[in-house]
Amino acid sequence: MTRPPSSAARARPVVALDGPAGVGKSTTARALAERLGFVLVDTGALYRGVALAARERGVPWSDAAALGALAGALDLRFEPASAGREGGRAGEPRLLIDGRDRSDEIRTQEVAQGASEVSAHPPVRDALLGLQRRLGAAGGVVLEGRDIGTVVFPDAEVKVFLTASNEERARRRVDDLRARGQAADYDTVLARITARDAADAGRAVAPLRPADDAVVLDSTRLGFEEVLARIEGLVHAAMG
Ligand code: C5P
Repeated sequence: MTRPPSSAARARPVVALDGPAGVGKSTTARALAERLGFVLVDTGALYRGVALAARERGVPWSDAAALGALAGALDLRFEPASAGREGGRAGEPRLLIDGRDRSDEIRTQEVAQGASEVSAHPPVRDALLGLQRRLGAAGGVVLEGRDIGTVVFPDAEVKVFLTASNEERARRRVDDLRARGQAADYDTVLARITARDAADAGRAVAPLRPADDAVVLDSTRLGFEEVLARIEGLVHAAMG
């Protein structure tokens, strides 16, 4: 397993932004990275990429060993959002799998479910760990996910765990899916994110939980700007 990089080597902080599905991590991380001039790394996209590639190759989402080998063999890269393209959300980085832009295909509810299943296998998590650490090693980066503050960058200078009520998160996820042109029914989405969180929080490896030294922000009643301002404040404090 790759060792966590040393924070002493970084001139600019690593921001770890963790939390459950539909809490607004992606939107928050994107806006934060843009304002700070930091790189954005959406680690959920990597697990989604593995789930999509596995389905296409006929690898079951339950086959830990085959999924680990696949995750290690895939060429997973991010590219900055291209201006004026159709689909997705403005400013969302693109995910390239073996050179092909698969950013829109990883955003379905089915692939989200697959990502949750494949991400529970230790060989998959190990295969993606080195990549996530390389992407963040230089600092000046916002990584969003489930285990950034606990496993990927336990020495991150800024750790935030975003939460919101299940109902509020389901509403946000329905809005998000509809904005992407996908049909979304509130009750179905609520049931799915509740089940996915239970699986993410209950798994044996790298479960979804706040790091002991993370700042927990409940965004149920906080506006987007307020959440952003609080995290920005933490980043500026970390930069001294
Ligand atoms: O954040 P997103 O919904 O794209 O993540 C999809 C799934 O990938 C999550 O439900 C979770 O199971 C998994 N994941 C993870 N660790 C991360 C990021 C995502 O296990 N750091």
